[in-house]
Amino acid sequence: MKPFTYQRAGELRDALAGAAGTPNAKFISGGTNLLDLMKLEIERPAHLIDINHLPFNAIEETAEGGLRIGAQVRNSTLAADPRIRSNYPVLAQALLAGASAQIRNKASTGGNLLQRTRCYYFYDRNMPCNKRKPGSGCAALHGFNRMHAVLGSSDACIAVHPSDMAVAMTVLDASVETMDTEGVTRQIPIGDLHRLPGTTPDIETQLKLGEMITAVILPPVQPGRQLYRKVRDRASYAFALVSVAAIVHVAGDTIAGARFALGGVAAKPWRVPEAEAILLGEKVSTEMFERAADIALANAIGRGGNDFKIPLAKRTIQQALAAASQRG
Ligand SMILES: Cc1cc2nc3c(=O)[nH]c(=O)nc-3n(C[C@H](O)[C@H](O)[C@H](O)COP(=O)(O)OP(=O)(O)OC[C@H]3O[C@@H](n4cnc5c(N)ncnc54)[C@H](O)[C@@H]3O)c2cc1C
Ligand code: SF4
Repeated sequence: MKPFTYQRAGELRDALAGAAGTPNAKFISGGTNLLDLMKLEIERPAHLIDINHLPFNAIEETAEGGLRIGAQVRNSTLAADPRIRSNYPVLAQALLAGASAQIRNKASTGGNLLQRTRCYYFYDRNMPCNKRKPGSGCAALHGFNRMHAVLGSSDACIAVHPSDMAVAMTVLDASVETMDTEGVTRQIPIGDLHRLPGTTPDIETQLKLGEMITAVILPPVQPGRQLYRKVRDRASYAFALVSVAAIVHVAGDTIAGARFALGGVAAKPWRVPEAEAILLGEKVSTEMFERAADIALANAIGRGGNDFKIPLAKRTIQQALAAASQRG
């Protein structure tokens, strides 16, 4: 591990001043991703700002009827919150499908959204990787790419974003609240937070240098049945091959609302509004769910080892939509 200076921030302004005053500074929260990357010398911050003592660990009701989740709220606390369990069960299920109980106890809301890809070539400094070392190439393109992206990728990078929580927050239309080093706040719709790789896969989010996530805002709960389906190699403690967060509202026998987001298929949680729109006003049927899944994956490109993800994603969407459209 490279030497670094360490600052324990008790107040937001101290943390932001630390980020403004030191080039190559990093915030550390649970450390469950950052510390591993530092040990491998893939992340080499000169200055580490510990944000665990900032007052961002509350889940509060908003004036609009939603919830404001502080960036320091732990994944296990969020999953156990009665308001999340009853009104946003897709989020509770996604959180509980991620990592292990011990990791969820450390992992924070902000850190989970900003965790880095699990592409094995990214973690292996002997291999070319445009995300780790721009311009060096992408070992996954023609390598072992079973876990990699089928949507939104480029010839520079085919990595996926690993967060389950982000997929559920995307279907819920959450937004991320931030503050930059000048003290300016903004709200970013979660669908805009992560960037597609293009020619600059090393730039992963819309955040500016030193900009901190302070909270995630959930809008008021929408009608419909919510669920999260995660397909993975083992029953637990494994990242998604494909996941689907779905919300379906059935009135009588007609679909009055349908939305779904995919995980494990792209560098960001993936939503296809046209695929959701064709379901509106239709009767619940296997054929309609098949059509929606086909539209969602219409632009998918396999790279060999991950070809199987395309039919797998279609089947998982169909299964999730069918299950979410059942009553009771
Ligand atoms: C073995 C293992 C299995 C896992 N399985 C899963 C899984 O199945 N699904 C899943 O979703 N995740 C999984 N994870 C990932 C885990 O959920 C993340 O490591 C964790 O959520 C990151 O949160 P953290 O607080 O520890 O972040 P840290 O490691 O502290 O930080 C991660 C990044 O976020 C930045 N950061 C942290 N907080 C903020 C903030 N408030 N503002 C700005 N930047 C910030 C840091 O600078 C760093 O770049 C797994 C991890 C491990 C080790
Ligand atoms: S897929 Fe992306 S992260 Fe993986 S080796 Fe290629 S450039 Fe690196």
